[in-house]
Order: sequence, then C-alpha cells, then structure tokens
Amino acid sequence: MEMKQYEVLQWASLFLEKHHRETHVGELLLLHYLGTSRSAFFANMREPVPSEIVNTFKQSITLHAETGMPIQHITGAESFYGREFIVNKDVLIPRPETEELIEHILQNAKDEPQTIADIGTGSGIIAITLALELPLAKVYATDLSKSALDIAKQNAKRLGANVTFMQGDFVQPVVDKGINPDILVSNPPYIAPADESLLSDTVRKFDPHLALFADENGLAAYKQIIHSMPPSVKKTVFEIGHEQGRAVSQLIKNKYPKADVAVIKDINGHDRIISANM
Ligand code: GLN
Repeated sequence: MEMKQYEVLQWASLFLEKHHRETHVGELLLLHYLGTSRSAFFANMREPVPSEIVNTFKQSITLHAETGMPIQHITGAESFYGREFIVNKDVLIPRPETEELIEHILQNAKDEPQTIADIGTGSGIIAITLALELPLAKVYATDLSKSALDIAKQNAKRLGANVTFMQGDFVQPVVDKGINPDILVSNPPYIAPADESLLSDTVRKFDPHLALFADENGLAAYKQIIHSMPPSVKKTVFEIGHEQGRAVSQLIKNKYPKADVAVIKDINGHDRIISANM
C-alpha cells in the first residue's frame, strides 16, 4: 500500500522509539533519501513516497535501530561547519563540539599568513575547514591511519581545500619534515579505555577505536603531542574530555611554565577546549 511522507516518518518514529533510539534520525534519513529539504518535506507531507524509497528507508532504519549503526555510515556523509564531508568506518564521525573548536580558532585568528598543523586529522574536518576559512594559512595535517588519510584527501579535493597530508604518529611527521607550525590544533583520542562501557553502541561499535581511546586515563595522546611539539608553536588548541581541563592544563604547564592556558566550555556548559599561548 502506498505510503504518504508523513506516514513513513511516523512509522520510523515509532520503530525507533521502540528500540530506544533517537527519533530525529528518521527525519534526517528520510530527507536524505528523498533528496529534499526539511521545509519542502513538511510542505508536501501528504505526497506519496515511491515504494523503492520506502523499502530502502525501512531497511536502513531497521539496521540503525537494531545494530546502532550510525546513520552517517548509511548515508556516507556528515555536515561540519556548513560543509558536507565524506565519512566511513575508518574515521571518527564529526561532532558538533569540534565546530566550537573551529569557532574559537577563527575568532582568535590573525589576518596574516600562518602555518597550522592539525594532529590526528581523521576525516580532515579541522584542517580542511581552517584551510577554507583562513585562505592565507598554510595547513598541514597528520594521521597514523592511512585509510583515514584517504578519506581526508578525498574531502579536501571535493571541497577544494589546500592541505598537505602526512602519515605518521601524531606530531612526528611535522618534526620529520622540519615544518614549523605557529598553531597546533588537535582533537586527539581522549577516552580512557576503562570508560568503554559508558559509550553508546553507536560510538563503541562503529567509531574507530584508534580515534577514541588513549591510555593513561585518556591523557596519553596529549602527553605525546605536548612532549614532541616543535619550538615554533605559539598557540595550541585541543579538544578535551569534559573532565580533563585541569589535567591537560597541567601537562602544558609542565613543559611551558609561562604559557597562558584557558579552559573553554562548550554550548552544554562542559569543559571542551584548551587554548594555550606558549
Ligand atoms: N580530527 C578529527 C575530528 O575532529 C579526528 C579526531 C579523532 O579521530 N580523534 O573529527
């Protein structure tokens, strides 16, 4: 039987609710399959949906509801700072908190040529967004995972961003190539392995563990990055876990006693960004 747009959406909401999943996922996915905007969708609520679309949509909703597979893995994309990025199982799905990190950097950016290094770039969202928003900047990005860099390179190409990608462990490629960044930015893995059970299955089963977990109670990546940071760096901006403000500030202070370190809260009132002038 033919289903109208609002009936398809209602079906999804009920199904998702029954599986204790967020219901807004239904709307996002249906808009994706219909290739339409939210306003156009609601203006045409009583239009029939082609049965192939209903079938594909139901399959995807069922997959998400039953396994927790993120819809970004189904659509292969996520938007970040107003642009669409390709994602897959090899990269962390972009988070809105990281948009706030971008906002902080842009608000404080100088209108002059600067060299920026994004450490652990994943899908490339930070490096690519900064390269596009700060056309005078020279942007480098590193990642240990070659498959992640493949995605980041595709994103840079699609979006027309000029970023130099380098494979290797955190800051190592920057040091090896003798690059002297002014600004170092990173959203490194920061979850303690002991906290794995606190994560939703959508995160735990589908985000790459290399992107999520760090030893030493989640601090190992910060330690390694700070330890190997080149002397040229004047400003460091990290995304952090909401209970890591004090510990990461201290790590920076240990190496740079004179650094001016600020812990900045995200829109939910949680500590989320550390910004340090060295
Ligand atoms: N820099 C990427 C992001 O912010 C990847 C982060 C990560 O894999 N830990 O999404």
